Amino acid sequence: MSISPLKEARRAPGSEWLKNHPRFLEQTYLISKRFIAKTYPWMQKLSPRIANKLMVRSEEVLKGWAFNCQMCGQCILHSTGMTCPMNCPKNLRNGPCGGVRHNGNCEVMPDMPCVWVQAWERSQHMTVYVNDIQTLQPPVNRSLQGTSSWANMLDGKDMQTPKGWG
Ligand code: SF4
Repeated sequence: MSISPLKEARRAPGSEWLKNHPRFLEQTYLISKRFIAKTYPWMQKLSPRIANKLMVRSEEVLKGWAFNCQMCGQCILHSTGMTCPMNCPKNLRNGPCGGVRHNGNCEVMPDMPCVWVQAWERSQHMTVYVNDIQTLQPPVNRSLQGTSSWANMLDGKDMQTPKGWG
């Protein structure tokens, strides 16, 4: 069976090691969240356009390397053991499908570990967000695709229900 290079989780050098240290990533997340919350309003005052570009580009580069971020615009990494759920070929946001193989690999891509098996195992090494993996996630809002999840979190856009979903 051929595997789509577009969908398979990219294993960037160093990123697997990083993802296997979720407690370290959790602390990094807490620090960066505080830092961004302080600096983003200032950046916006100077230039909303540049602030937005900077946020999007930073996420593309940093989270792209570390997590193979797909820029969904509603980051839930801290709830998924710092494993990006959008790397699941089915884009599942609330746990695995019923097709996880006996070896813990994906049913769609047999050579790839199931994103949700990794998410569960990694989440159990976290301290602050250890139980967040049990939080039920809303459907992904595709209109936020390509935008900065950091900005969306600070603007509250990632928590808004799109029109018509009522
Ligand atoms: S922003 Fe979305 S696609 Fe990117 S790492 Fe977070 S959950 Fe994954």
